Amino acid sequence: MTLKLYDTMARKKRPFEPANDKRVTMYVCGPTVYGYAHIGNARPVVVFDVLFRLLRHLYGEDQVVYARNVTDVDDKINQKAADEGVEIGVITERFFKAYLEDMDALGALRPTHQPRATDFIKEMVEAIADLITKGGAYEAEGHVLFDTQAAKDYGQLSGRSLDDMIAGARVEVAPYKRHAADFVLWKPSKPHEPRWPSPWGDGRPGWHSECSTMIEQVLGLPIDIHGGGIDLVFPHHENELAQATCAHHGGEFARFWMHNGFLDMDGTKMSKSLGNVIIPHELLQVVPGELVRWALLSAHYRQPLDWTESLLDQSRKALDRLYGALQDAAREVGTAKAGAEVGEKARDVEYALLDDLNTPKALSALFALSDDLRTAIAEGDKSAIAGARDDLVTAGALLGFLQKAPGEWFQGAAADGLKDQVEALLVQRAEARASKDWPTADRIRGELDALGVVVMDGPQGATWRLKAAGE
Ligand code: AMP
Ligand code: ZN
Repeated sequence: MTLKLYDTMARKKRPFEPANDKRVTMYVCGPTVYGYAHIGNARPVVVFDVLFRLLRHLYGEDQVVYARNVTDVDDKINQKAADEGVEIGVITERFFKAYLEDMDALGALRPTHQPRATDFIKEMVEAIADLITKGGAYEAEGHVLFDTQAAKDYGQLSGRSLDDMIAGARVEVAPYKRHAADFVLWKPSKPHEPRWPSPWGDGRPGWHSECSTMIEQVLGLPIDIHGGGIDLVFPHHENELAQATCAHHGGEFARFWMHNGFLDMDGTKMSKSLGNVIIPHELLQVVPGELVRWALLSAHYRQPLDWTESLLDQSRKALDRLYGALQDAAREVGTAKAGAEVGEKARDVEYALLDDLNTPKALSALFALSDDLRTAIAEGDKSAIAGARDDLVTAGALLGFLQKAPGEWFQGAAADGLKDQVEALLVQRAEARASKDWPTADRIRGELDALGVVVMDGPQGATWRLKAAGE
């Protein structure tokens, strides 16, 4: 089976082939670091992490180069820095660090490159000057604008005509623009704002110029995959493409364009202005990252995903079921590491991903593997148990799941002091049960319940986990 991906430009699924299978390139638009990312921002991170893992599996770990930029110059950053009376670097460092910690906790591998816009300003200035030379951009009142009238295929990615764009723009058209759809490549900075020198005066680049320049500088053209959320198709990606096409006389920019659907909150758009945002930085204090990752992958990436309490409950139950099977297997044959030779059925997870990253199907393939593991445990065949366990752990790794020891999953959030206390109570309870002292055994169970612990009795003794919220 070959990898098929839905290409926004072609408006259909196409077989994926990289330009060079020794160097597969992917670029995903990253965060603007002026605050904590919300859970919607984490969706592209986790979705493209699954694709990164799959490409590494298919082409080799060192053959895939993944870049995700950091927008560290922006009006919102300037505003936040002015509010706090600090340099923009203080703000961007703080929130980039938090972003990395949160995305690590969601199990996302770090991209190969994380270029920062402020490290490429000179290259952006050169690229903008080149566009002017080629007749694709013009200077007006200290600004440089891209001339959308001069770009013959403008609108090809989003499928919009110039008339649609004007109707949809709803913005006051600046008097220096030749055409309402023209967009800013360079703009002057006000006295207190960050600034860099340019032939058009001190100023800063527009957002669309950042990505097109960094893609070329960091990865080289054409790239195999360009990704981001669906909201970026227009204007951001359309404008990146227009610049690159003009600069390279119509040459290829990105061979596949991929966009994830939006994450909503109880049926409405999640947005800071509506005040209905969930912030992973806070959520991850109380919920394991792996559970949040499961929730984010539970819908197909192109579908909208509705974020609800019950989504988190279902995700916890799903992971409890898989880790529960692994825990029972561990009592019989110990734990496994990913990377074992897997049976044919374990490849169902890979086959599901090869079909345009069908993660719901891949997750149900994990359930089928855990059912097989349960059957092997019931039959007591140790070699079948070990094989089924390896299948589940190795297939899980492709999606970034099931790499913890089962005990760590069930007890993960418990503090060390609590762990010691629970273990001591379980020993006392086992002794009471052995001497048929049922009142003492029941009293200890009550104490464990009050500590927020669920005890699970099994053939090899008792294990435990923390209660879920509301349990
Ligand atoms: P931003 O920091 O707003 O530029 O967004 C960073 C990334 O998150 C982009 O790829 C956006 O398309 C994506 N994104 C923003 N909001 C959502 C959302 N509610 N659901 C899914 N993706 C989103
Ligand atoms: Zn971008």
